[in-house]
Amino acid sequence: MSWLHEKIFWIGSKKRNPSMYRQFLELKNSEGKSKTQLLDQQLEDLKTFVRFAYQNSTFYRKHFEKAGFDPNENWSLENFEKVPPVSKRDLIDFNTAIHTPVAMKEKTFYVETSGTSGEILTFHRDELWDSFNRAAIWRGISWYGVNPWDFSLYFWGYNSDKYKRIKLSVMDFLVNRFRIFDYDPKTMASVGHKLSKVKAIEGYSSMIYELAQVNEQNGIDFKELKLVKGTSEKIMPHYQEVAKKVFGRKISSEYGATECSIIAFECPKGNMHITVEGLYTETDPDSGGILVTNMKSRSFPIIRYKLGDQVKFADSNFKCPCGLNHPVIEEVTGRIGSKIYGLSKNYPSLTLYYIFKNIYFNKRRKIDFQAHQFEKGKLQIWVKESVTEQLNLLIRAESSQYFSDIDLEIIENHDFRANEGKLRDFISHLL
Ligand SMILES: [Zn+2]
Repeated sequence: MSWLHEKIFWIGSKKRNPSMYRQFLELKNSEGKSKTQLLDQQLEDLKTFVRFAYQNSTFYRKHFEKAGFDPNENWSLENFEKVPPVSKRDLIDFNTAIHTPVAMKEKTFYVETSGTSGEILTFHRDELWDSFNRAAIWRGISWYGVNPWDFSLYFWGYNSDKYKRIKLSVMDFLVNRFRIFDYDPKTMASVGHKLSKVKAIEGYSSMIYELAQVNEQNGIDFKELKLVKGTSEKIMPHYQEVAKKVFGRKISSEYGATECSIIAFECPKGNMHITVEGLYTETDPDSGGILVTNMKSRSFPIIRYKLGDQVKFADSNFKCPCGLNHPVIEEVTGRIGSKIYGLSKNYPSLTLYYIFKNIYFNKRRKIDFQAHQFEKGKLQIWVKESVTEQLNLLIRAESSQYFSDIDLEIIENHDFRANEGKLRDFISHLL
């Protein structure tokens, strides 16, 4: 049947994404390039793209002019970096003015995305951009010997709309994929017979972790499996332990966002290589977060965009043993912006990640948690297991290394998954 799915893939992609295969070949071709070649090309592409945006987007023309930057007259990286970063709020508020005539003249796809803050962003993504994104994913999975038409399991968040489910199921059949819609352990256990045939598993890392746990005792032989890909969430160290045990391999991460495309893809040697062929990334001197310029976003330019993630870039001399010279992101440490409030101080929510990471590495203790704040100076930590005296002390001891004016309450709660698709480690209820 695999030949049939391959055929369907080619027919479908020629119709929907005519430039995808060409862009995939270009991406494969750049794998052999030196770091200098890659970065020189990236700067050249950045200049071309920024000039394009200046010419075609009324928002960016004004935005650059305000910063005294005219990319046709005084192009330099230094001047480019004087342009103030753009926020998601800007993309929503100035939506029409950001769009370029490409959105009207060329084939585009209408995209809707909502962030953790609940704001909904919509825009038109042109074919070259959409296809580049798909080609970048294709290149990433190719490092593992996986083809886009191979049999795969795909996790999807909650979706109660029956019509949509049927539509998705048909689509899934065509692209040789089966999909899990919910987090019910029964559903997860019921797909057991299919698991020995999948070549790739893809989804939120916390869901992959749950799937691994459900199947821990089943002894399924994942003989075809070549790639387990986690998206959108931090991959906790204890997820990896169970993944290795059950799937025989760790969860590899794909890092991206709808408006930014694929920012980085983890290679088989465990390093996340940045897609420099389509993106220019920087560290925001103010927030310390990542700034993304998506050089493929012609219909809706994304320039110096504050994605909101805290990212640690690898040293520029770092050389990955896989042979790729693409720069590396060492770690996506978390979201910035959401703060935990003490009585007099405040703390980045990232602190929680460090607390539980330390507990895992120092005490070999894995804890599934979610923290909630309802009032300043107090923090609830929900855990899936029963709260023993020992667990209580462990969390309190580690937390006291970080929090000095927060009163902790540790509560047993099994279903903190139930709210949303994406598992967040901190939810603030403060107004
Ligand atoms: Zn590598």
